[in-house]
Amino acid sequence: MNPLLSPFDTAPFSELKNEHFMPAFTQAIADARAEIEAITHNTEAPTFKNTIAALDYSGKQLDRISSVFFNLNSAETNEDIQKIAQEISPILSEFGNDITLNEDLFKRVKAVYDQKENLDLTTEEQTLLDKKYKGFSRNGANLSEDRKKRLREIDAASSKLKLNFGENILAETNKFQMHLTNETDLEGLPEGEKEAAAQMAKAKELEGWLITLDYPSYIPFMKYAKNRALRKKLSIAFGSKAFHNDELDNQENVLKIAQLRHERANLLGYKTHAHFVLEERMAQTPEKVQEFLNELLEKAKPAAEREFKELEDFAKELDGIDQLEKWDGAYYSEKLKQKLFNLDDEKLKPYFKLENVIAGVFTVAEKLYGLQFEEVFDIDKYHEDVKTYRIYDEDRKLVAIFYADFHPRAGKRGGAWMTSFKSQYVENGENVRPHISNVCNFTKPTASKPSLLTFNEVTTLFHEFGHGLHGMLADTVYPGLSGTSVYWDFVELPSQVLENWCYEKEALELFATHYETGEVIPMELVEKIKASATFQEGMQTLRQLSFGLLDMSWHGTDPTTITDVKAQEDTVFKETDLYPATPDTCMSTSFAHIFQGGYSSGYYSYKWAEVLDADAFAYFKEKGIFNKEVATKFKEHVLSKGGTENPMELYKKFRGAAPKIEPLLERAGLL
Ligand SMILES: [Zn+2]
Repeated sequence: MNPLLSPFDTAPFSELKNEHFMPAFTQAIADARAEIEAITHNTEAPTFKNTIAALDYSGKQLDRISSVFFNLNSAETNEDIQKIAQEISPILSEFGNDITLNEDLFKRVKAVYDQKENLDLTTEEQTLLDKKYKGFSRNGANLSEDRKKRLREIDAASSKLKLNFGENILAETNKFQMHLTNETDLEGLPEGEKEAAAQMAKAKELEGWLITLDYPSYIPFMKYAKNRALRKKLSIAFGSKAFHNDELDNQENVLKIAQLRHERANLLGYKTHAHFVLEERMAQTPEKVQEFLNELLEKAKPAAEREFKELEDFAKELDGIDQLEKWDGAYYSEKLKQKLFNLDDEKLKPYFKLENVIAGVFTVAEKLYGLQFEEVFDIDKYHEDVKTYRIYDEDRKLVAIFYADFHPRAGKRGGAWMTSFKSQYVENGENVRPHISNVCNFTKPTASKPSLLTFNEVTTLFHEFGHGLHGMLADTVYPGLSGTSVYWDFVELPSQVLENWCYEKEALELFATHYETGEVIPMELVEKIKASATFQEGMQTLRQLSFGLLDMSWHGTDPTTITDVKAQEDTVFKETDLYPATPDTCMSTSFAHIFQGGYSSGYYSYKWAEVLDADAFAYFKEKGIFNKEVATKFKEHVLSKGGTENPMELYKKFRGAAPKIEPLLERAGLL
């Protein structure tokens, strides 16, 4: 008996064996195919219900099995599970492609789409119809055969280039190592970092210390190492990855990827790749993104220049530095930050015992949305560290099931994320409630000490819980639009906005109490946290904007005339660079976010999301951070609505107006 193939509500972890997965996947894919066939073979004329809705409700068992499996692969994996993942991933993407390329299915979808004006659909239904139709059309379903063929060629070529782009960066990263044998060269590094560097040398059977271009090695060295020449060496090595005119160089890849994306967009009838991408974003057009980035740039630049001057003066006074260079930035910023705030994680941690912070975020959710959290012990879980909760509303109706998995262990990947084991939707009149999970990597308690969080971990917990609320409070009809199924530049609003409560006295008083004395965190410390959170915000903003502008320069215009990658980049960075130029380095050749990952024409969304969350929180601040009326509006128009409507419309319904950038500028101290 395969527990994944019989109906289950909460995931049946304790009965699961690895050998259950493949047969379950095979069966569920076959069932999902049969559901699709039932749609295409339907002899009745295509309708919203028998085609669009049927398509969205299809494959539910497969979704559930996939979420159980892939969540385990992230949080509690082993070699067998990884092997199954390798095996099943191509099969799943083939199944996905078979749907998008199914011409009979598209014919029916298009038939419904073409009469959408006359169907009397709800807003949610219109959005679903649009989304389903675009799932086909954006993959070429409307193109002639020869153009379709060209589209497939472009897709195949692009994925090869992207793969090669990433391989080159990895090879370049692994190729470089800075081997130090003189301990004075490590002066300034904290003991833990030195040990890590010694460990790395030892692993390669070398004497002394090893510094590499991997972040955990590179970042601390740039931040703490006193030796300026070595910082310069490391910085240039880092900044010139895949930019050495050799077999690992990515300049050709950058040009080709940008050109193919442009050609693909043109084939589908879009002016540029950015026009294609942004059609499915809150920002909507490249012009809007460009305007947004420029406006922020104009506002942030004076502050950034002030901060830079301050840093220059500080470095000059401290070490007689006449010309501050890129490799000095992190080092002197860290020193200046220490001088200004002297804010030590160890001083804050006693106020943030994990259990208190969890209770705190629950209380915040209760005060805002009337949620009640009950820890329960009758829900099957995949590891003993996982805690399970049932969440009820004020009428004792079940809202969601919540899994909290907070400590690192072998088999769990790093970082923090929100995910779900079951999505919310309405079927046959029943509102099926979701199963949401937060997974983090916070220090485990020991026999003598509880788990005490750094402030950064506290905001991480609130952040992921904010995504969690977006899932828990979901209240839509169709699963494909539920919860976090929203546009990319909107998905971080619920998570980022909740972080704001971590800086408020009224919220901190609820949970930030010393784990030994019970004393509430002193306001003086809170003020320091706030002030240090916006330290060098102007310079940080400029840096983020430079990446967003670079992204748009590659994807928002015709790239076929660009021949010199570095020159293209220099033109963009001229507006944002505070440091002297470094001819030997190039950002684009290792900008994996946009050339390998999925962030092309999307880098702006980091700042976009900040504008949204600052503007939304300003509304709470104005009326009171626990104001019920504002909270109810946020729940009604944002948290419960998923992707059922254009996010700008949802936002305006909540706020009464489109988001403005002033609240962010104010919060960041840029005004
Ligand atoms: Zn997030």
